[in-house]
Amino acid sequence: MRKPIIIGNWKMNGSIDSVKKFATEVSPVLKDVTIDCGIAAPFTLLSTLKNEFSDEFKVYAENMHFEDTGAYTGEVSADMLLDIGINSVIIGHSERRKYFGETDETVNQKLQKAATKGVNTIVCVGESLEEREAGKHFDIVLSMLEEDFKDIKEQDAQNIVIAYEPIWAIGTGKTATPEDAEEMCKQIRNKMASLYSNDLAETIKIQYGGSVKPANVKEIMSMPNIDGALVGGASLKAEDFIALITYNK
Ligand code: PEP
Repeated sequence: MRKPIIIGNWKMNGSIDSVKKFATEVSPVLKDVTIDCGIAAPFTLLSTLKNEFSDEFKVYAENMHFEDTGAYTGEVSADMLLDIGINSVIIGHSERRKYFGETDETVNQKLQKAATKGVNTIVCVGESLEEREAGKHFDIVLSMLEEDFKDIKEQDAQNIVIAYEPIWAIGTGKTATPEDAEEMCKQIRNKMASLYSNDLAETIKIQYGGSVKPANVKEIMSMPNIDGALVGGASLKAEDFIALITYNK
C-alpha cells in the first residue's frame, strides 16, 4: 500500500559533469524501476539534475530557510527552490543539526513553511550513540517528532516522509540491525497514530538511513514498517544507486 521510496543524499559532493555521467547510466534503468526514487543534491546541481532526468525522478534540495526573503546570507527559500522547479527538500538532517545549528524549532518552522508552499519534505530524526547506549533512543526520537510536527496539520503531515537515521550509523559503515531499525520505525508509526490518527500512521512513509548499501538494502526494505531508505555514500556511484533502486528485481 505504501510505495517504497529510496532517495540518495549526495551531501557536499558532485559536479555538473558527474551529474551528467550519473544520469547517462541511471536514466535507462528507470523504466524498469517500480519504486519512487531520486537524489538530494547541493543547490548548484539541482537544475542540472532536473534537466537530465525525467519528471518521475525526484530531485530534492538538502536544506531551505523558513523565511521567504531577507537578510539570511547563504540561505535559500522555498520560493527560490520552486522558482527553479524544485519542489522537494530534506529538512533536519543530522549534519545540519550538528554543524549548522538546526534545532527541532527551526525544523518545525521549515516544515510549516514547506507545507504552506506545497514543497514535499523528508524530515530526519535519530539518536546519538550515547543516547542509544543510555537506553534513551525511543524517548529522544519520539520527542523530536513531537516538536518537529508541532502545529503541522494532518493533511500536511501525511505528505511528509520521516527518515529515521541513527546518527551513529551515518557514514560510519555501522548499520542498525534490520530488527533495531524496524523496532524504531514501528514506534515512530505508533507515535504518528497518537499525534494524528491511525489512518495517517498507516499511510505515512518511514525511511531508514545509515550505511544502507546494495548488500543490505533488501533485508532493510523487507521490514514491515520501513518503506524506504535515505542513502548517503552508496548513492554517489551510479552502479550502486541502480542496485539500490532495483533491490526488488
Ligand atoms: C545520509 O546521508 O543520510 C546517510 C544515511 O549517509 P550514509 O548512507 O553514508 O550513512
